Amino acid sequence: MKRILLMAVVALLLFACNNNTDKSDAANPAPAQAPVILKASLASTKCLPCGDMELEEGAIADTMTVDGKTYGFCSAECKQAFAANPAQFLTQP
Ligand SMILES: [Zn+2]
Repeated sequence: MKRILLMAVVALLLFACNNNTDKSDAANPAPAQAPVILKASLASTKCLPCGDMELEEGAIADTMTVDGKTYGFCSAECKQAFAANPAQFLTQP
């Protein structure tokens, strides 16, 4: 009987830990409310830091809005590169 109680406590603790992880994720600046980013909503269908790499529908890792235009990125690294100097990528035709 004690073993069952112990397992229940462990399960509760694991559940509590998961909840804490979710809370820390929610505190991150990355938006979690948009699970699918449509290419049609973006100013460019390419990941600008990658150059000519076309973004895959449904595989857009993150977005950033500059001057009212939303740009999509294949990865968080690309978003960071873009955020560091957006003008560097936006001067391209
Ligand atoms: Zn990229």
